[in-house]
Amino acid sequence: MTAISVSNLSKRYGKTRALDNVSIDVQLGEMVALIGASGSGKSTLIRHIAGLEAGDGETGKVVVLGQVSQTAGRLMRGRTAGRVAVIFQQFNLVGRLSVLTNVLIGNLGRVPRWRGTLGLFSRSEKEKAETALARVGIPQVATQRSSTLSGGQQQRAAIARTLVQEAEILIADEPISALDPSSARRVMDVLATINTQDNITVLVSLHQVEYARRYCKRTIAMRDGRVVYDGPSTSLSNTF
Ligand code: ADP
Ligand code: ADP
Repeated sequence: MTAISVSNLSKRYGKTRALDNVSIDVQLGEMVALIGASGSGKSTLIRHIAGLEAGDGETGKVVVLGQVSQTAGRLMRGRTAGRVAVIFQQFNLVGRLSVLTNVLIGNLGRVPRWRGTLGLFSRSEKEKAETALARVGIPQVATQRSSTLSGGQQQRAAIARTLVQEAEILIADEPISALDPSSARRVMDVLATINTQDNITVLVSLHQVEYARRYCKRTIAMRDGRVVYDGPSTSLSNTF
């Protein structure tokens, strides 16, 4: 089964062609980089794959884990609920809640309104969340408020939530572009680990070609809403 299949997807915002007849396939188990300059369409493509937005026209289609998630501009919501996790550049966590609660609410599908929400979860769920935080290298921050975490720790907590949720696909939209190089490497290391050890398919958008080369066998490059390269990261030129 193909993890993600996008065919002939287009999207305009006014005069901007954010996606121009994009077709890509990502196989289960792959870790693929999506690169391109700011404004090339990476986030738009990710929002469409995540089922947050519908494309234009009659031709576009997105199939995720064998389920049609949109076709001809119509969204079919909820068909892969919980099986696909999305992480953004920031604002992945609810700052006023503890890190552990943030990791746990991946399963809840909504943000609790009060603090002290941990009581909603069973001991085994909490243990699972603690294990996930250990897997991403931040077991010591479990009881802290999320707002106290560094940017890199926040990204790793969001990845821990993906593990608790037992997502099969993780789509990360520029998870490292706000981070210093050593934090960025740690986040990419964690993505590589969940890809190889947990067999989670990863699609990660990145600004820098170097990270794509270092962490991903395959890179898809975009420019002006079009896919301009799709192949081994090693053959990728610096200018695309
Ligand atoms: P990035 O740093 O990833 O390039 P952007 O600043 O382009 O992010 O976009 C951030 C958010 O703003 C996205 O959700 C995008 O949909 C929205 N956005 C981007 N460009 C426009 C625009 N011209 N008008 C309205 N919303 C926009
Ligand atoms: P990237 O993620 O590669 O930076 P985006 O997908 O955010 O690129 O944006 C692609 C193009 O679409 C940009 O020109 C951006 O300004 C435009 N765009 C994205 N989202 C919106 C939106 N919601 N409204 C208007 N324009 C948008």
